[in-house]
Amino acid sequence: MDAATTISPAVLILLGPPGAGKGTQARMLEDKFGLVQLSTGDLLRDAVAAGTEAGQAAKAVMEAGDLVSDGIVIAILRDRMAQPDCAKGVILDGFPRTTIQAEALDGLLVASDQKIDAAISLQVEDAEMVIRISGRYTCAGCGEGFHDTFKIPAKDGKCDKCGHTEFNRRADDNAETVASRLAAYHAQTAPLIDYYQAQGVLKGIDAMGQIDDIAQDLQGLVSEVMN
Ligand SMILES: [Zn+2]
Repeated sequence: MDAATTISPAVLILLGPPGAGKGTQARMLEDKFGLVQLSTGDLLRDAVAAGTEAGQAAKAVMEAGDLVSDGIVIAILRDRMAQPDCAKGVILDGFPRTTIQAEALDGLLVASDQKIDAAISLQVEDAEMVIRISGRYTCAGCGEGFHDTFKIPAKDGKCDKCGHTEFNRRADDNAETVASRLAAYHAQTAPLIDYYQAQGVLKGIDAMGQIDDIAQDLQGLVSEVMN
């Protein structure tokens, strides 16, 4: 095939804080564009299970209780991206986490004549996110989801669905914990945002609206960068 007409797989990086709906959006992108979402945890598990060279190296490191090095992760990523199902492209989720990893990723892509098409940042308003996440609770009987502000039971203290009167709240969904999770996310991601901004591939998506609206914005952006 003529090199000029070869379409190289798209490489997208998805950045977003916990609670921004990153997983849901990534799945929609997979369905719509035939992309494959690659998260570091899954990559490592799969490579270890498949017993590839890099997988065996990762297994040895993890069994020794150490963190898998960037070099091993990059090798696993390289192997995975060469699989036929990634022909249309990949959505990287959770990698890179640092600018050192971002540079290593750039090295890998240059070596395979690829580039990052977009680093997409799902943008949220922290104060609003705290209200959304910390207000969540579920029925202890049937698991129906409720919210202090957005979905209170019609009859006070009684589940609309099953009538149960006990509810569960996740301990780590309290306001302080959510705020500190967001702060940690911003601190960790800021250098990456700068890094991709400098490369001219950073794209921001307003992630505070309805899931379908966010999906529409995101899909519009992805179809633009994949052309
Ligand atoms: Zn219920």
